[in-house]
Amino acid sequence: PQPQSPPTEHIFRSKLPDIPITNHLPLHSYIFENLSDHADRPCLIVGSTDQVLTYSDVHLTIRQTASGLSRRLGLRRGDVVMVLLQNCPEFVYTFMASSMIGAITTTANPFYTPSELSKQIARSNAKVVVTHAQYAHKVSAEGVPVVTIDDRIDGCLHFSELLEFGLFDPTSMVGGFNPDDAVALPFSSGTTGLPKGVVLTHKSLSTSLSQQVDGENPHVYLTKEDVVICVLPLFHIFALNSVLLCSLRSGAAVLMMQKFEISTLLELIQRYRVSVATVVPPLVLALVKCPMVDEYDLSSIRIVLSGAAPLGKELEETLHGRVPQAIFGQGYGMTEAGPVLSMCLGFAKQPFPTKSGSCGTVVRNAELKVIDPETGYSLPRNKPGEICFRGAQIMKGYLNDPEATQSTIDVEGWLHTGDIGYVDDDDEVFIVDRVKELIKYKGFQVAPAEIEAILHTHPSIIDAAVIPQKDEVAGEVPVAFIVQSNGSELTEGSVKEYVAKQVVFYKKVHKVYFVHAIPKSPSGKILRKELRTKLPSS
Ligand code: ATP
Ligand code: MG
Repeated sequence: PQPQSPPTEHIFRSKLPDIPITNHLPLHSYIFENLSDHADRPCLIVGSTDQVLTYSDVHLTIRQTASGLSRRLGLRRGDVVMVLLQNCPEFVYTFMASSMIGAITTTANPFYTPSELSKQIARSNAKVVVTHAQYAHKVSAEGVPVVTIDDRIDGCLHFSELLEFGLFDPTSMVGGFNPDDAVALPFSSGTTGLPKGVVLTHKSLSTSLSQQVDGENPHVYLTKEDVVICVLPLFHIFALNSVLLCSLRSGAAVLMMQKFEISTLLELIQRYRVSVATVVPPLVLALVKCPMVDEYDLSSIRIVLSGAAPLGKELEETLHGRVPQAIFGQGYGMTEAGPVLSMCLGFAKQPFPTKSGSCGTVVRNAELKVIDPETGYSLPRNKPGEICFRGAQIMKGYLNDPEATQSTIDVEGWLHTGDIGYVDDDDEVFIVDRVKELIKYKGFQVAPAEIEAILHTHPSIIDAAVIPQKDEVAGEVPVAFIVQSNGSELTEGSVKEYVAKQVVFYKKVHKVYFVHAIPKSPSGKILRKELRTKLPSS
């Protein structure tokens, strides 16, 4: 038999040219490289107190914190600091100071239970926890020092005590530094299983930031005039990278909200003339379904960036109608990818036209391909398959799990995302859904996100989620969980019919469960595993 010639590789790249990427520096040096250009500009604004901290204020406190971490707590290169904080300046001080001393920050959700925290502390080998007084009890039995940032608590250190050791010399890590050292240890959202610890290095994060905000025509154009709202939790990599760190690198102001509350959010946008709003689909849904939105002046917003989970085209267009002057687009990320894979090119300094529903175009200095999950061969445009991604920004690996790392990053360096998507004729990436979440009806595949997007367009439906239910004949059938608006009296039949009119037979909803809320992770993902436990068969 004739040897078969290898199939052509279809590799997609950015429409923007590659740029020289600065990724040899320690993360904090890279981020504050242009500090002198914006030293007196606002860096952090605390929404709840109206406190404004300039870049030079913030940089000084970071240097003090670095001294305290090293001299008061004895932390060294490679040690892990757990940040158990809602959005606040101390998050930034601790994270950047850890980078300065060569330490690593692991971020955790303050709502975690003591046992969840205990596992993360053990797995990451954290040497100290920085938290709010109200959460200190959750980690007090861990045998590591606990630092509170607000009230003083017996047996805990207070953050101010870290600031008493003078200024750390940010250049003093030279020699004791390698760009491949870890700097952040975020955990994935735990949507499909347990959250996975992800090792991100100085090089991965600075590459990712550079791909977004550097160059003559940055993919995401931020300036020191921008006010970026930080309402998404910083313990998740999306806000940490694309909101906080991108802004710091660009000299923009970050307006921090400790917790989400819709009227406060709208108030802050109006008061501070917020120009960039980074959101997740549940927030988009809340804004679309909330009549209050029209009472506020949102005319300062020039960018709305949604990411972290699928956003239906209709939802995107409805919100866009309320902030018509803004460019509305999505980013697609994954903790393991550092995290940004693709981003809307409408955000570029010289923007490109983009389509609603798209997740943007692959970032520059990186490669994306779509593979046939059966053969592993790459697919051409417009053919859905598993998205794979390669570039200097991807994780070093999963924390202490070489096996999982090997099954996610192949020998050629491609990160296999587990997401199904395709690239269209204009290089735009569209995500269909996760491989693991596709519903298999006989031989057909149904993407829950597609049916959810249809359900969201129903005027009496506030929220919806679709999951598979076991079925003797079809294997699996799609079933819907529905939250209906107050006063509406939807029936199972009317919901089923609403979907059936709009889809091919195998995408029809077979059963409807009315619930009060759809469980979601703080990073904006539907927790389908929780819904599965509510099905009668399990
Ligand atoms: P786990 O891996 O622990 O199950 P997770 O995958 O939800 O959780 P993250 O790393 O926070 O954890 O999320 C990455 C995933 O989020 C992607 O693999 C993708 O499925 C989804 N995602 C991110 N951005 C988008 C987007 N714009 N559209 C659709 N899905 C998105
Ligand atoms: Mg994942």
